Amino acid sequence: MNLVQRDQAFVWHPFTPQKNYLPPIPIVHAKGSLLYDEDGKSYIDAISSWWVNLHGHAHPFIAQRIYEQALQLEQVIFAGFTHRPAVELAEKLLQVLPEGFSKIFYSDNGSTATEVALKMALQYWWNKKELPNRKKIFAFKNAYHGDTFGAMSMSARSVFTRAFQDLFFEVLFIDTPTEENIEAIFATIEEHGHSIAAFIFEPLVQGAGGMNMYAAKHLDAIIRKVRQYDIITIADEVMTGFFRTGKFFACMHLQESPDILCMSKGLTGGTMALGATACVAKIHDAYISDDPLHTFFHGHSFTANPLACTAALASMELLRDPACLHRIEQLCMAVQDLAIRLQESQSNFSIPVKNIRYTGTILAFEITEGANNYLHAAGSQITQKALQTGIYLRPLGNTVYLMPPYCFQKNEWEKVEAFIFQLLS
Ligand code: PMP
Repeated sequence: MNLVQRDQAFVWHPFTPQKNYLPPIPIVHAKGSLLYDEDGKSYIDAISSWWVNLHGHAHPFIAQRIYEQALQLEQVIFAGFTHRPAVELAEKLLQVLPEGFSKIFYSDNGSTATEVALKMALQYWWNKKELPNRKKIFAFKNAYHGDTFGAMSMSARSVFTRAFQDLFFEVLFIDTPTEENIEAIFATIEEHGHSIAAFIFEPLVQGAGGMNMYAAKHLDAIIRKVRQYDIITIADEVMTGFFRTGKFFACMHLQESPDILCMSKGLTGGTMALGATACVAKIHDAYISDDPLHTFFHGHSFTANPLACTAALASMELLRDPACLHRIEQLCMAVQDLAIRLQESQSNFSIPVKNIRYTGTILAFEITEGANNYLHAAGSQITQKALQTGIYLRPLGNTVYLMPPYCFQKNEWEKVEAFIFQLLS
């Protein structure tokens, strides 16, 4: 059996229907933005392999650091022990996070980062003996915070959560803010504010919900409003962190700062699984207690894995390089330029599109033919067409988007642009 046959015999892939699915493409190696298959054919990774990769694949600097760390200390239990990579990474993250953050709690991925944030916020109220009146959560419609149960409960009721939704806890979903609905959102906050433990949001861009983008000023206004009710604010920066929106964190477009901030994906430059949840002193203070029940009883076998922390430190070092910051700026400009040209050509396209938008390094638009959802057939058709041209795109249903790594080359960008224009013309 070849690799694909063995895969089909023994492996179950994520987000993949188990009947009539296309065989997966075996990737043998990768370099920069390019993925290479068994036949040597290359694919431009225009979505950073599920939004994780920052500096390009198989980056030699990060690989070397991981190798050196593996020879020193590959893993150690993180209760009762510590190690340099975890401490140094916490110090480095606290230096770049908005002011006021004081502690970093490590986990394994984006879902655990938000799950930790949720539990941290709920137990904050429990430790203060106020949980019974503060059990509910505010989240945005179209939100996506991960696939574990708490994270799913806080995510939009959608195809992703359909099978489980009768089992979720109570979450009040508020509209993603616009000029028109902001007063209605305030009214909902006023009505329920005192029963809400926490408000979770993806700042500026809602990723898996369809790359919806909304204004920083509205999020600022909502944060100010929920603060009047002492609601804990949780920024899920799993996707938006590490310059995807043009700034280190999307929250840096805001005037207000959240109480808890979740990181993963780009944290390690996209090389290893790691989650981190940062909190301000007020949250951590609620756990400083003589009562052992006030302990945060949460942890994973691989919490703060030294190799993953080392990869994150190496990625942070690359991010501090002025050349990298320059590339991010260039990419933001290229994204803006493409969005404007798409808007200008919109009326001439034979495939109708709407809502062409961008924030930082992310560009998105919708194909308007057919249903407006994740199961829209356009998504997989576009993926197949793009693959034939040597580009990897994975639309969210009828939402086509680009989120390239920061090492993206000019010729690669031009090839992706040409593909999009050709697709729509
Ligand atoms: N939060 C956000 C905003 C995300 O985009 C994702 C993943 N797409 C997650 C959480 C979950 O992250 P993971 O897939 O690493 O569990």
